[in-house]
Amino acid sequence: MVFVMKVYVTFDMEGCSGIAYRAQIRPYPEMPEVYKRAQRFATEDVKAAVEGILEVDPDAEIWFNDGHVDNMNVLFEELPENVVAVVGSGESMDEVMDLDDSFDALVSIGAHGNTLTADAVLCHVWGVREVKFNGRSLSETGLNASLAGFYGVPLVAMSGDEASMKAIQKELSQKIATAVVKRGIGMYSAICIHPKKAQRRIKEAVIDGLRRRHETPLVTYRNPITVEITYKDQYGAYATKLFNSNDEKVAATKIRFVAENAKEAYKQFFARYKLSIARKNLRR
Ligand SMILES: [Zn+2]
Repeated sequence: MVFVMKVYVTFDMEGCSGIAYRAQIRPYPEMPEVYKRAQRFATEDVKAAVEGILEVDPDAEIWFNDGHVDNMNVLFEELPENVVAVVGSGESMDEVMDLDDSFDALVSIGAHGNTLTADAVLCHVWGVREVKFNGRSLSETGLNASLAGFYGVPLVAMSGDEASMKAIQKELSQKIATAVVKRGIGMYSAICIHPKKAQRRIKEAVIDGLRRRHETPLVTYRNPITVEITYKDQYGAYATKLFNSNDEKVAATKIRFVAENAKEAYKQFFARYKLSIARKNLRR
């Protein structure tokens, strides 16, 4: 039987080449062209990653998940025809929706550090201040890699800004191949290398990471996992406790619960995060 590699490419826009401020990552009516131009940077970054995968295995099966905001930033129609897209992943598991043990590797393009990472461009962890699994403070990429690890799939390569790449390597593993495409000099400012150069780095990192995929450790945990969420304000902890009475409220903005494994921990974290932003419907 011929082995065909199956690779999951997860995407976020904050860590793409040439991108540093908000109007680039969601359309602002007063300057729509800024976002459209950023879509080009994002699309070219993903194309570079796909090229890297195809260089390692020309027949690779590639899944692409544009997990940023409303999930249609990258111009999917410009990717090669053997790429399939996970569309509308906000419903559950977000950036890694439908990832399972049939994949050989996870690649993260446009990654960004968590809320607490200094000099990380456009950093955040969805809308919370911090999330920890068994005491380990995670980035969005770390959460994705945790689910992948549950399924035996390693995160092999990622791209983003310098501080985020260093922080995520420290959080997960130094073996993850990285492509640094910019250096943050503020939360909304960066010194960016030329996009073509950035895209060459992305392609090289993906090739390197995929070739070394058997050496890259899986992100795993001792089960059950203690999950701690610190929200940005008190409403999140209040809403979480209201709907999950077994959760422990350990501070005004912080809750704690126990999940049986990394998949449950991710899912339960995400459900609580969604609850915390439901106040939009309360008109406050
Ligand atoms: Zn994003």
